[in-house]
Amino acid sequence: MGRVAVTDGMAESAVQQLRDAGHHVDLEPTSLDGFDAVVIRSATKMTADAIAAAPSLKLIGRAGVGVDNIDLEAATEAGILVCNTPGSSTHSVVEMTIGHLLASVRHLATADRDLRKGAWTKKALKGTELSGKRLGFIGFGRISQGVGRAAKAFGMELHGFDPYLPLEVAEAEGCTLHDDVNDVFRLCTHIAVHCNLTDETHHLVNASSLSLMPSIGADGVACGNHLVSCARGGIVDEAAVLTALESGVLTSCALDVFEVEPPTDNPLLQHPNFHGSPHIGAATLEAQGRIGAEMAELLIGFFAGTTPRSVVNRAVLD
Ligand code: NAD
Repeated sequence: MGRVAVTDGMAESAVQQLRDAGHHVDLEPTSLDGFDAVVIRSATKMTADAIAAAPSLKLIGRAGVGVDNIDLEAATEAGILVCNTPGSSTHSVVEMTIGHLLASVRHLATADRDLRKGAWTKKALKGTELSGKRLGFIGFGRISQGVGRAAKAFGMELHGFDPYLPLEVAEAEGCTLHDDVNDVFRLCTHIAVHCNLTDETHHLVNASSLSLMPSIGADGVACGNHLVSCARGGIVDEAAVLTALESGVLTSCALDVFEVEPPTDNPLLQHPNFHGSPHIGAATLEAQGRIGAEMAELLIGFFAGTTPRSVVNRAVLD
């Protein structure tokens, strides 16, 4: 029997699946000591101290994708496997990104706010089409590829920067990869951020990269520049985004993720052309169900002696 601590919630069906398999699941653990595994989302921070305080842990399960809230080095040194559920939320984040893009270029949030105030701002809310524009991806992994397919259906041209992706993967998706991230900004009026947060990608989207954006679409339309990120807070320099919105370098910015979450006192929230959501990219019934089921299966397999497929720190296995 495995002892599993769940710190940030888990789909009920997945908890039941674990319990039915004979494992003990604690949904409100006061400490992680004494548990074999912990299941976290993004709220729990598995720092070196937290890892040291739980010497019984053998596995950290990240219900979701990003593992930037886990000290991978400390986990590896302690011999703890770190696993995630990489593909389970892809569709949801793809749809969220497209939703933000559409909401941004058609001023949907402003339109709703105006209408509720009794203002019929029909003339002020002229938008632009995604069709005929270039969409630039920062990182071209699972989510980007899904967004790319939808964007192509709208008639967008795809460009990307991803130094770790084999060229042929991007080619198969009809996306032109560039060696220099600045070339993507120079070409594209619309930028979608979908890379991991690492030392390399921290503030990769900044004042100087935003200033390169063309504001005239590939179809010649003065559509302005638009930025969307449903990846991780910290990749986009939020202070630079605010300045770019104020100066008109950016026409819109939509963020699902923030440098500080929740973003209290963040001046971006006061800007009319900023659209935000509270880190809900993966918050759909379908994604949470898939994430829970994948994590439950992973844990049941692990307790039966199988090495999970989604081990992030493979050095532990050496
Ligand atoms: P993925 O691993 O499939 O794709 C990430 C891509 O980023 C990879 O292709 C990788 O090569 C690339 N990359 C890494 N370093 C880079 C760099 N320096 N420059 C450019 N590209 C780089 O991951 P995914 O499933 O597509 O997820 C993408 C992002 O979305 C992650 O940051 C993840 O944490 C985030 N995410 C957010 C939510 C949410 O709730 N908003 C949900 C799921 C995932």
